[in-house]
Amino acid sequence: MKILYGRVIDAISEEALENGMVVVEGERLVYVGERGGFTPDAAEKAEIYEVEDGTIMPGFIDAHIHLSGTESIHRSGESPYDLLLTSVRDLRDLVDAGVTGVRDMSAFGSALKRAVEAGNIVGPRIMPGGRVMSISSGHCDFDPLLEREEVNRRDLTGCLVDGPEECYRMTRQQFREGAQFIKICATGGVSSAIDDYNDVEFSPEEIRVIVEEAARHNTYVTAHCTGTRGTKEAIKNGVRCIEHGVLLDEECVKLMAEKEIPLVTTLSVSLGLADMKGLPEHMMRKAAKLGDASKHSFELAHQYGIRVALGTDYSNSPNTPFREIGKEFYSLTRCGYSNMEAIKAGTIHGACLMKSDTQFGSLTAGKLADLVVVKGNPLEDIRLLADADKISLVMIGGSIKKNLAGGQNGGGCAE
Ligand SMILES: [Zn+2]
Repeated sequence: MKILYGRVIDAISEEALENGMVVVEGERLVYVGERGGFTPDAAEKAEIYEVEDGTIMPGFIDAHIHLSGTESIHRSGESPYDLLLTSVRDLRDLVDAGVTGVRDMSAFGSALKRAVEAGNIVGPRIMPGGRVMSISSGHCDFDPLLEREEVNRRDLTGCLVDGPEECYRMTRQQFREGAQFIKICATGGVSSAIDDYNDVEFSPEEIRVIVEEAARHNTYVTAHCTGTRGTKEAIKNGVRCIEHGVLLDEECVKLMAEKEIPLVTTLSVSLGLADMKGLPEHMMRKAAKLGDASKHSFELAHQYGIRVALGTDYSNSPNTPFREIGKEFYSLTRCGYSNMEAIKAGTIHGACLMKSDTQFGSLTAGKLADLVVVKGNPLEDIRLLADADKISLVMIGGSIKKNLAGGQNGGGCAE
């Protein structure tokens, strides 16, 4: 049994509990509430953690991540095996940053998930989505001089499909490899080499084929959405989640509210592109045109009460370091969201997208004990969450994965 005393943010209540107590038995939370509200069995030896000037809160969930290795294969020239091994190291960075759950979009998610679950490597819980599906000439078509087949053989993040028949096949292939949801590119994007972000990419028929196939596998399709028209097409044809939402207008947001479609942020990237180093010229050009467009989208989403989940689009590249993933909390507050709203977006709302909100995402008795201890109070300073060195303890399923105080009984442990 492990008992933590201190300030608790459970990600359900509107306020923190200043004098709180969290009790963990095995892999689950058995009590979360006022200090003294739970009396452990006298015979039971408990590890006690007194959290002074810190906060106990649910582990972070990044709903949009690419575990495809530090650099993608076509740029680095490394083999997929090299990149898979760097992604094993990358998982350690995620845990260090306080991340206990991710929704991955890459070829590696399924294998990494199995390895984490088997206890072979340390990492967050992973919901794999497989490779992102795009049309030829679309968002994942990184090099039009390569044969399409070559792109599909090499790319670890995306794949190219054209026509309903290929959409069926590739969707089934993703499930075959272990995907638990499907991501498509409904519009062009900023990072893509040859499209315009206002391009509408899949046809309605292609989207419907993918959506129907995903439904047969009891899951949903999410869509990369930059331009407005393609976003509406995606929603109208059955997509159940929007990534980025850079150019949402009022009609989009109304449709999303009506159909209860959540929105995934990626704001650190969307609002920070101009400051990133070494980006290709086409990206800089597109990013300059978009400016702060995302800010407007998220303000609209806020106004209409859209459920927002944090996602970073990070891949542990020099511009997107996993150890700074918690920056996304701050990025959302830049769009008018409160610190508590940002915390819920990065915990319980992410768990909803992982279809696991009954299992984790909040500090609630009965749920799995996925939690972090942060030095300081993120309700006063949300930027604390962006600093891996401020995350002093990380627990996943009741097992301690990081403890800056060191030792099994560290972290202010009394026994
Ligand atoms: Zn992405």
